[in-house]
Amino acid sequence: MFRAERVLRAGGVTVSAVPAPPREAGPCTTVLEVPSAETSRAVHIIKLNGIETVKIIAAYPGRRGVTEKLAAVAAGSAFEQALGRVLKGGPPTLSDLRLLLRASGKEAQALRRTADKVRQNTIGEVIDIRAALEFSNYCRRNCLYCGLRAENRKTKRYRMTEQEILARAREISELGVRTIILQSGEDDWYTTKRLVKIIRDIKRKTGMRITLSIGEREYGEYSIFREAGADNCLLKIETTDEHLYARLHPGMALADRIGHIRAIKKAGYITGSGNITGLPEQDLDSIAGDVMWLRQEGIHMIGTGPFIPAPGTPLEKYPAGPAELALNTIAVARLVCPNAYIPSTTALATLERKAQLEGLACGANTVMLIMTPPGLRENYIIYGNKSVVDLTWALQMAKTLKRQVPPAIENGKEAGFAQHSVK
Ligand code: SAH
Repeated sequence: MFRAERVLRAGGVTVSAVPAPPREAGPCTTVLEVPSAETSRAVHIIKLNGIETVKIIAAYPGRRGVTEKLAAVAAGSAFEQALGRVLKGGPPTLSDLRLLLRASGKEAQALRRTADKVRQNTIGEVIDIRAALEFSNYCRRNCLYCGLRAENRKTKRYRMTEQEILARAREISELGVRTIILQSGEDDWYTTKRLVKIIRDIKRKTGMRITLSIGEREYGEYSIFREAGADNCLLKIETTDEHLYARLHPGMALADRIGHIRAIKKAGYITGSGNITGLPEQDLDSIAGDVMWLRQEGIHMIGTGPFIPAPGTPLEKYPAGPAELALNTIAVARLVCPNAYIPSTTALATLERKAQLEGLACGANTVMLIMTPPGLRENYIIYGNKSVVDLTWALQMAKTLKRQVPPAIENGKEAGFAQHSVK
């Protein structure tokens, strides 16, 4: 895949790695996208280099039939033209994305309805429900926005043992949840050996898909955890603005972050990334650049959420990112990466509960339940007043939107596990 992309680019073909249409190639796989006019040349170059082509599929099935149904906005307005161009597919331009991101009123409605339609065509009606277990809030980093930062003395620190993590994972599995997200600060107490044991045990005892969201590790560890049974790995780019990135993450650099995300993808994970919107000193171009980057890298899962000031951090006095911008970003991400898994994030729910519902109605298709044990979850304060997204709320959202949830969750709920475990 990586070699194919390289030889095509060297041969002058316009190529992007994008998530594959789930119905064609299974969910969360990556394909190389080339403009239809360049297809035969691309196939030729691939063959010359001895690379096998598995399948050639028509791009953007999700967009078919959408363009005609665009809601009535001022005919031919700059916004409508930009929306039309982005819907056609192919690498978008920064100026088109900027126009879409700043949409308000009727235009924002049209943008979000269009994104919802694309989601319907690509992913379908099932809201995937996943569960997060925030197993440690120790962190060696000092990200300016995050409440877990090492220098935040207000944070009461905790770590779950291997046994506690496994016990909680079993309860989560009994709910019918098929994917567990193991999330933490960057905590070296969890050595390679400890994490391998945790991953192996959860896999063996529950069979759940395992997502790691534990920050940066050594490159070699990504493969070790993958072999131990981890399926997905999340590492947000946070912002692709190099200077803003450096200011927000003391001692870290954007280029290194990109290196880690590529290493994760290379290790064979379904790869998640994403950004924060409404950060101090972040502009629309910068967010447009983030979305373009996510598309170019072929990111399978896109977590985008608003900045929320966290107590005890240098940014605690800054205003939260606007809900409108966060929702527009979800919609734009759906248009630009039609096949990606996009959660309606906890950060959005924290801003306003109903904003999480709106996220699901403008392109998002996933919800993450917070399943950290009570008594600990109160101390996992990446941002202030974090909303607890539980199964009851997730099911209520699905009902309101007339969407489905995975059948196993329906069964788990009926078996009465929900009440028992969520509280
Ligand atoms: N330590 C792990 C997990 C971090 S928490 C890692 O670094 O990947 C998961 C996400 O929460 C982060 O990637 C970041 O995008 C988000 N986050 C942290 N603080 C935030 C804040 N104040 N506002 C909004 N999002 C925040």
